[in-house]
Formats: sequence, structure tokens, C-alpha cells
Amino acid sequence: MTQPAEILNQLANDGLLRSLRTLDSAPGVTITRGGRQLLNFPPNDYLGLAGHPALAAALIDGVRHYGAGATAPRLVCGSHPPHQQLEKLLAEAKQTEAALTFSSGFAVAIGAIPAIVGKGDVIMLDKLSHACLVDAARLSGATLRVFPHNDLRKLRRLLAGVRARSAGARVLVATEAVFSMDGDVCPLRELVDLTEQHDALLWLDEAHAVGVMGGQGMGLAEAEGLQGRIAFQMGTFSKALGLAGGYLAAPRGWIDLLVNRARSFIYSTAPPPALAHAVIVAVELVRSAEGLRLRQRLGENIRLFRNSLGMDEVRSTPIQAISLGSNDAALAASATLEQDGLWVPAIRYPTVPRGTARLRVSLSAAHPPAAIHRLAAALCPLSPRHPIH
Ligand SMILES: *Cc1c(COP(=O)(O)O)cnc(C)c1O
Repeated sequence: MTQPAEILNQLANDGLLRSLRTLDSAPGVTITRGGRQLLNFPPNDYLGLAGHPALAAALIDGVRHYGAGATAPRLVCGSHPPHQQLEKLLAEAKQTEAALTFSSGFAVAIGAIPAIVGKGDVIMLDKLSHACLVDAARLSGATLRVFPHNDLRKLRRLLAGVRARSAGARVLVATEAVFSMDGDVCPLRELVDLTEQHDALLWLDEAHAVGVMGGQGMGLAEAEGLQGRIAFQMGTFSKALGLAGGYLAAPRGWIDLLVNRARSFIYSTAPPPALAHAVIVAVELVRSAEGLRLRQRLGENIRLFRNSLGMDEVRSTPIQAISLGSNDAALAASATLEQDGLWVPAIRYPTVPRGTARLRVSLSAAHPPAAIHRLAAALCPLSPRHPIH
């Protein structure tokens, strides 16, 4: 039997070893680690809400009202008012009949997808889908088909093939609104048309779009006016919303079924009600005039970053991936930036396909322009030749 040490040695030889490093400060635009101050490009905190005083105050207020923990799953201990208020708010904001919250985005996928499709059904996934969608698809027992990234022609062929064989099978197509490691966007309108034409259900993971896109910051579906035509809209409170937890917005019948069938909901202790109380404040903030201002600031930072590196401005997401190919090249680039006082993580297999290791820059509304200039100057020797988009 292979011992853990041998596996770890092999990972180290391949430049794929990961380890945890201690952070000596709160997350933010500057962090302290190993006694050094670093300018941070905090993964996913696109609006700077993780450090927002209103959210910290709401958490404290929530603990005073509802205590520290939920003590049991909601079906056992009862549903705390903040969970229900949050679900009502999400359903209204996402323009769906209902919503259900889970302890994480990962838990949404692995709980809900196997409750929606199973043996005899088909699930189709974009090649670059997040690990939680892949694991959920495998767990479901449905036949898994993977289509090349954003390849609508291939997806159309797969859908037509399934429908030719079986008119009645349940078919779920799952993809991301903003892809987490590439930062590009799915062709949502075409996906909605295609799934409708083939009587398939669409699952949209809005993890990196909520807070960032749409007039009210509710994501790509809102931005495109398509919320009413998507069966399942999932998202997380852990990225732009700065907190933790996940949600699924969907028609009432499906949500009622998930309360009965989604195992990560049924058999897992509810998130602290205080957290749900704070998430309500975060969602309201994102939809407010302040949220709009933060999105405008974020847009200015994205433009500034791309202009500074001579890249075009077509992209509008805060995830900027710089391809370096090999694991060693990505790790070396990240280490060089760290010596310059900048923290930009290297992303490697299995998070991204082999041979596509990269630096993943995550821009935030909280970055002052000087921070963007400093990063762009440090990246200049690398990036103009290697932007992924
Ligand atoms: C982060 C992420 C998730 C998981 O959300 P958590 O709340 O962190 O568990 C799901 N999908 C995508 C695309 C993500 O980036």
C-alpha cells in the first residue's frame, strides 16, 4: 500500500504539493504573513465586503439575538427566522418562487444535484466546471457527459442525441456564469435557448457573478434579464458577499423536494442563524446604491489593470488569469511577486487542466489605483504575452 509520504513526495516532484500557510492579519488589500506586509489580491472578495464594518456589526448583532450556533439541522431544530427571511429575500432578488440556503456552495451542489437527477437521467457539464459540480454529477448516478468549454455546437449535438434516444429522460445542463479560474463568461442566452429547445433543465453556478454583475448585483442572469428562464440558480455567500454559505433559487416544487431529498441539507447542522442575519445585510448592501458604487469602482479597476498591460477591455470580470503553462513557472512567478511584496496565487492541476498553470489575479473595488499600477508594473515582464483572454 502506498504511504502518504510517498504520495506527498511525488506531488512535490511534480510541483503540485500544497500546504497551508498562516495569515497574521484579517483578509484585506494588505495582509501580514510571516512577519511581512503584502499587497494582496484577495481571491474572490470582489467588493471588499469581507472587511466591511456593516457586515461585522451585523454578525455581532445576530449573535446577540440568535446565539452562536444553530445546534441541529433545520428539519430537527426548527427553522430560525433569519434563514427564512434570507430565503424570501433571495427568491425575490433572483425572481424565483423560492430559495433554499445551505452551509456552503459546495453543499448546495452535492446535495441538490443528486436530488434532481439520478440513474437513467443525463447531466451535461462544461469542461471547466467547478469541482463541486463534477462531484455532484458523479454522486448522482446520472449519465455524465462533458462538453468542451462554452462549446454550444457540441452541446447541441449531445442534447439532440439524448433526445433522439429518449424523449422522456430528465436532462440537466450545468455550467458557471463566470468561470472561476479563467474569468470568462458563459454564453447564457444561447444556453437558455438550447436547453429550452431540448426540454432540458439549466443549472447556473453564479459563485463569481453574484455581487459583481447585474444592475442589482444579482449576477449574470439578472444582467441578461434571464432569471425567469433558468430552472436552478446557485450561488455562494462566501465570495463577493464576504461571508459563508450557499443558496439555490428555483421553482417552489423543486425547493420543497430538496427539503425532503438534499442530503447535505437534511443531515447537516444549519449554519448559525447569526450568519444568515449578516448575509441579509450583505445582500441588501449589494443591491443598494453603495453596492452599485462598489461595482463601478471594481469596473474602473478592471479597466485600469487591463489598460496598464496593453490588453483590450472586452472582459468585464474581476478574475484575470495569466497563463504560464508549467507548474514550476507559475510557482516561480508567484514567488517573485511575493518578494516584491505582492501576493498573487499560482493555480495548478487539478484546479485547472494539466499544462495550464497560471497566476490568478483577483481584482477588488477595495484596491486603490496605486495598487493596480504596482501589480501591473510587476506583471509587465510576464503578462502581455500570456493573457488567457
Ligand atoms: C467557490 C465556488 C463554489 C463553492 O462555494 P463555497 O461556498 O466556497 O463552498 C462553487 N462553485 C464555484 C464556481 C466556486 O467558485
